[in-house]
Amino acid sequence: MEQLHNYIAGKWHRSETTDYLDVVNPATNAVLVEVPLSAAGDLDNAVAAAAKALTTWRRIPATERIQYLFRLKTLLESHWNDLAKTITAECGKTLKESQGELQRAIENVEMACGIPTLMQGVNSEDIARGIDEIMIRQPLGVVGIIAPFNFPAMIPFWFFPYAIACGNTCIIKPSEKVPQTMQQITELIHQTGLPAGVVNLVHGNKTVVDALLDHPTVKAISFVGSSPVARYIYGRAAAAGKRVQCQGGAKNPVVILPDADLEMTTRIVADSAFGCAGQRCLAASLAITVGSVKADFVDALAQAAQQRTVGNGLDEGVQMGAVINRGSCDRIHSLIQSGVDEGGKLLVDGRNPEIPGYEQGHFVRPTLLQDVPVRGEVATTEIFGPVLGLHHVDTLDDAIALVNQSRWGNMACLFTSSGAAARQFRYEAEAGNIGINIGVAAPMAFFPFSGWKESFYGDLHGQSQHAVEFFTQTKVIVERWPKEWSRQF
Ligand code: NAD
Repeated sequence: MEQLHNYIAGKWHRSETTDYLDVVNPATNAVLVEVPLSAAGDLDNAVAAAAKALTTWRRIPATERIQYLFRLKTLLESHWNDLAKTITAECGKTLKESQGELQRAIENVEMACGIPTLMQGVNSEDIARGIDEIMIRQPLGVVGIIAPFNFPAMIPFWFFPYAIACGNTCIIKPSEKVPQTMQQITELIHQTGLPAGVVNLVHGNKTVVDALLDHPTVKAISFVGSSPVARYIYGRAAAAGKRVQCQGGAKNPVVILPDADLEMTTRIVADSAFGCAGQRCLAASLAITVGSVKADFVDALAQAAQQRTVGNGLDEGVQMGAVINRGSCDRIHSLIQSGVDEGGKLLVDGRNPEIPGYEQGHFVRPTLLQDVPVRGEVATTEIFGPVLGLHHVDTLDDAIALVNQSRWGNMACLFTSSGAAARQFRYEAEAGNIGINIGVAAPMAFFPFSGWKESFYGDLHGQSQHAVEFFTQTKVIVERWPKEWSRQF
């Protein structure tokens, strides 16, 4: 069985560990490769390489640094299909979803190519007579990026193109469940000719993460994953004096008003709840119907859930793939059962489906649970599977109150044809990403991927100008150059 290696100082190195984990194809349960659960020593080597590279990399002009990103964009585009197949094989989503994920990754490379203007400073002449003040942006140093399993390609790109374009060097720690995608992308990074040590890849789990959080040379941590781990990482890295941004989990409500276009809304809500098998931090997981729309919407959605084609994401015509592993399948099953035990009605039961040819795969079909208690376990827990809870209220005010009682704040969406309702919702809903007649309000690369409440710890988010600010520190210079000191020419 092939074993993966770490990429440190421009070369592939076998990890110091003897501890390896099987990486499994969720659709077939076949083992694809083995990933090292690297030791703290591997991380130390990566940090040393990044620190060494920093001394020269940060002095290279931004216009030259971005040339590597232009090359990376071209390489990503020419390897699009191979990479998409790898994402699907290790993550389970459909090929189309994997291709879409890569598109989003590339857009962040394009955005980071604007660094020569994005990281410009500001200045004020004559803040007092003959005195000028200038603010410049400088890189932080060595930074660490820790990614989750559900977007193996896209999420590291919310951070690392900006980090290196700003003159930092970095260590990327992909999820141990899906390590092959970043492994292949790192091969492409190598082909750009990027100087050794600017980007390093270290595989592993908590051991390596903790070493990264504690390492005194590492200046900043970008994390995306579940909220309990986000909170832990935020606390530990901040206690070690680092700048930290941690994007966490979610439980996203979508509100449907009686004046919404029923056909469009049903299609979009179904795609949001069941796309990527519900394993998206922007997946709809609670649908709140308002007033008279309930019966028609619930019937239409139940039909959409039942009709969804589930299977191996590599196969033609499949609309929803597998969930990541057996443990995730079991957890989703048990949360569905909790919903039933709490008094919810199981309108569509997606447990233990038969997927011919993929009997060993980890599949859950779309599931609809109606009227689970709003403060109960299922309505407040991130299920991270294709399970949508259904609630009903009388007014938009009631719906917004229900949205705002959540401890999560990643996304909230409204379906309506009323501009006034839309304005009230976007003004009052307590979430960082808002969709109006949109089911997955995923910000483009030129906007920050916002997130509020327990869905985010920190202040600056991933992507866009936020990433530029996160990966730079400001320096203010106040200058006086009296004319009398000038030599006469
Ligand atoms: P996870 O929290 O289990 O793992 C994320 C990363 O943290 C992995 O690299 C993992 O190796 C590491 N890790 C896990 N446990 C750790 C521990 N105890 N100590 C130190 N490191 C640890 O998340 P996941 O299951 O890979 O991803 C799914 C989660 O990510 C969901 O909650 C989802 O909502 C969230 N997510 C959030 C966003 C967002 O932008 N807010 C985007 C994508 C995914």
